[in-house]
Amino acid sequence: MTDKDLMRRLFDRIGAYQQEMIDLQRELVARIAVGPGEGGPGEGEKAAFLADLLKNWGLAVENYPAADGRVAGGQRPNLVAYLPGKRPEKVWVLSHLDVVPPGDENLWDSPPFTLRVAGDRLYGRGAEDNHHGIVASLMAVKAFLDLGLTPERTVALALVADEETGSHYGLEYLIREQRQLFGDRDLIVVPDAGNAQGTLIEVAEKSLLWLKLILTGKQGHASRPPLARNTLRACAHVIVALEALHQEFPLETPLFKPPASTFEPTRKEANVPNINTIPGRDVFYLDCRVLPDYDLARVKERVAAIGTEVAQKFGVTLKVEPVQDLPAAPPTRPDAPVVLALQKAIREVHGREATPRGIGGGTVAAFFRQVGLPAAVWMTVTDTAHQPNEFCTLSNLVGDARVLAHVFLSAED
Ligand SMILES: [Zn+2]
Repeated sequence: MTDKDLMRRLFDRIGAYQQEMIDLQRELVARIAVGPGEGGPGEGEKAAFLADLLKNWGLAVENYPAADGRVAGGQRPNLVAYLPGKRPEKVWVLSHLDVVPPGDENLWDSPPFTLRVAGDRLYGRGAEDNHHGIVASLMAVKAFLDLGLTPERTVALALVADEETGSHYGLEYLIREQRQLFGDRDLIVVPDAGNAQGTLIEVAEKSLLWLKLILTGKQGHASRPPLARNTLRACAHVIVALEALHQEFPLETPLFKPPASTFEPTRKEANVPNINTIPGRDVFYLDCRVLPDYDLARVKERVAAIGTEVAQKFGVTLKVEPVQDLPAAPPTRPDAPVVLALQKAIREVHGREATPRGIGGGTVAAFFRQVGLPAAVWMTVTDTAHQPNEFCTLSNLVGDARVLAHVFLSAED
């Protein structure tokens, strides 16, 4: 049988799994896996269900639980299930078990933890984030099992805890304690973000720097400005002066969208409540998304220097405090094997060209990249994660399961 015939059989089989996809989503949505930090019971029930299911399919399933006294049983599960391939090198698909709380339930058209099917759409908390990844990867594996086919690489499904609240009990823990699970020649796919066409492969992130800027002057009566030192006026001038950051850190990389670093003044705390008082204290925040080429310490230094120089002209002092300071992990190369395998698969399943890109926000793949493992974040999204009436679609599930099956079969290095 040629590779094309094999692929055709896998694609046909996956296309026939729509009822199985609905059934699995229903089971997953019903098992509330909100983390204890957000008032939930954790991932235990959902993990137990999935471990049983995968064992029934004949897969070897291991658990690497992280101790957490806040949940029943005292452990957060991190499952790894293996489907042996022709080669020991693996294709990892990492999905997360936890979901965010439903938020205001009045905004939902149906109960968030009961699956609702409407045409192509499957509604429920977690349906997209991240059951989409779980269901697509499991159905790709099921097609190999049902057809009695052996994938080229060993398929490793990782189902981890705690992605929504920092991954301390999830992927961060797994990589710290079980680094040997992941080989340098493994392909790592994280189906947890993407675009609606399934053509965005996220390979890099900008560094994140949040700064709090506190200006202190002297409060006074608005009729007597010489007796006061107006921090709001100073604040306005500091914000304008900080535009210079774009010239001081001018690098642009087409990998990222937007291609340059960004420096946005965002939140402004309230100062005086009345109109006839000159404020003597003002606080605002700067959200900086910085290309990985730049050192965040240098950015902080320049913000303080530029701001202080201006503030001094108004007799005002400036203090700069970091609120978040997260240097980006080294990017996955745009020609890394996992990127090429995904691009080829997306081309063959959808006839579309997928592009490796960097984004401004953080993803769980950064934990892989921090230790030098090239991971790619990819899936086809509805962009309803964390929203009321979150949904995923059957057509995206079928498409993404086919892409993953193609990657499982790919012989490339
Ligand atoms: Zn997610």
